[in-house]
Amino acid sequence: MNKFEQLGLNESLLLAIKDLGFENPSEVQEKAIPVLLEQNTDLVALAQTGTGKTAAFGFPLIQKIDAENRNTQALILSPTRELCLQITNEIKLYSKYIKGLHTVAVYGGASITEQAREVKRGAQIIVATPGRMQDMINRGLVNIKNIDFCILDEADEMLNMGFYDDICSILSDTPDEKNTWLFSATMPAEVARIGKKFMSNPVEITVGHKNSGSATVSHEFYVVNARDRYEALKRLADANPDIFSVVFCRTKRDTQSVAEKLIEDGYNAAALHGDLSQAQRDGVMKAFRGRQIQMLVATDVAARGIDVDNVTHVVNYQLPDEIETYNHRSGRTGRAGKLGTSIVIVTKSEIRKIHSIEKIIKQKFEEKTIPSGIEICEIQLLHLANKIHDTEIDHEIDNYLPAIYEVFQDLSKEELIKRMVSVEFNRFLSYYKSKRDLSSQGGERSSEPREIRAGDPVRYFINIGSRDDFDWMQLKDFLKETLDLGRDDVFKVDVKEGFSFFNTDGEHTAKVMDILNGYELHGRRINVEISKNDGSSNSSRRDHNGRGGERRSFGGGRDRDRGSRGESRFGGERRSDRRSGSDDRAPRNERRSSAAPRRSDSSTPRERRPRRS
Ligand code: ADP
Ligand code: MG
Repeated sequence: MNKFEQLGLNESLLLAIKDLGFENPSEVQEKAIPVLLEQNTDLVALAQTGTGKTAAFGFPLIQKIDAENRNTQALILSPTRELCLQITNEIKLYSKYIKGLHTVAVYGGASITEQAREVKRGAQIIVATPGRMQDMINRGLVNIKNIDFCILDEADEMLNMGFYDDICSILSDTPDEKNTWLFSATMPAEVARIGKKFMSNPVEITVGHKNSGSATVSHEFYVVNARDRYEALKRLADANPDIFSVVFCRTKRDTQSVAEKLIEDGYNAAALHGDLSQAQRDGVMKAFRGRQIQMLVATDVAARGIDVDNVTHVVNYQLPDEIETYNHRSGRTGRAGKLGTSIVIVTKSEIRKIHSIEKIIKQKFEEKTIPSGIEICEIQLLHLANKIHDTEIDHEIDNYLPAIYEVFQDLSKEELIKRMVSVEFNRFLSYYKSKRDLSSQGGERSSEPREIRAGDPVRYFINIGSRDDFDWMQLKDFLKETLDLGRDDVFKVDVKEGFSFFNTDGEHTAKVMDILNGYELHGRRINVEISKNDGSSNSSRRDHNGRGGERRSFGGGRDRDRGSRGESRFGGERRSDRRSGSDDRAPRNERRSSAAPRRSDSSTPRERRPRRS
């Protein structure tokens, strides 16, 4: 008797399970399935993503449904369209040997009348997103007044997405006698609240620690200067030639721009965010599943539905605002028992957030340094050697071999190896030869000269000014909008001809540095640096003189004024910073034209595709 049979599952499910290739039940399946089969009970199950929750409720649900009765008997609510479709697919696979059992997906962005028609035709199981379900109910297109089962899948994510009211309203439309099964990776207060309100004496199942990160994911962080974030991302990708990753950014705009830069630099990358049409998103996801994309750059919301096995790395290009979200991000890797790595790129001022996350996930981060150019060359070289070694040979090549042998006949085996490997390796070597280390501990110039804390004002230098058609109000508006900050969050804005100064609270510093550095304005790259001065000593002195107002204190952009004041106040150091900043940009331009290690030129991705199809 196999393990699934021991759990009490019947023949038609066992056959389907065999087809799926599941050999043993996962822990949550082992715990939930017998309970749900034997009792008519409510249930709360907490288990990390990737632990097999869909089958944990799907198998017993299918066994309990009366396939001869065409009425809707079960409603499964799920947070996103992608998950909704995925669950529907899974349920269909599980129930493929059961005649007459129909499952319908109900989600936004597709024809509601078509979905309603499918439900009318007889669907015992509806899998729905809360928004569309509510819509269907409001329009009287569906009847869930007599269902026996309601399943809240990924409950924490649904509530995270603001579906609390929808869920309450949908649940009030279902009978009290039904059984409710709630599945979630974590148990935040809102989930507990739903549980209390709509469930009675639920059986509780917990797999692993509550709120803990999955044991199959290891966590690493890398400290870099804010301006090096993108370069660090590239090195991490280069140091992991087989990377298959989701890269998380905080905003749609960052998501788009990081993806664009990666593509321009020759990586197999794409963006996934809410501004894409459904068709575009589907296309991106298809390419990602098919491994044509190695780096999927995504916002948190857009990535909610991603369930792709074998993701090797989750990269937190920027940390999420809410620490809870970190769990959802890292859960995209380490699925189905595979190992995965969650990487965080941080600036010094964000290190304390790492410690807060450690407390929540109850796992330690390992601090690592971004590999040096030489290390990356070594990694790439070995990777290439192994790739050559393991390449499958297509015997079509036999016809060409005599001519090829002829070409190589004067070379020894060693010489030949050297040259073959150099074909690929030279590109990396010439690119990385001149590159500095990115580690922010490396004692090199730093754009963060002092510890920055929330509550402290921080003053910045920015390389745009009146020459770029800004006066102080316009610059303030631009900063507020670009940084998504409130009215009073940007202050002491002082515009000079070719540059300006402004302040924010220290809590926004990481954001200011991340968003503005590298931001392109009319084809010019913005550069922001933190000044040692917070602008307060200066303005109070001015206030004493009765002149007030920052803008006036710096005069109307007179060059001499700016030269002497600017330099003496901010010292030679900042200016030299600025100079080395532009030095740093020079190779970037070169790179674009030639030296970049262009993945798309390399044979890696092209070889990869046929092997998978
Ligand atoms: P969760 O909902 O907990 O995030 P899923 O139900 O989506 O996890 O399952 C994650 C992956 O594991 C899916 O690809 C699924 O097919 C696979 N899976 C589920 N149960 C088993 C099992 N018993 N054996 C092998 N693979 C499984
Ligand atoms: Mg799931």
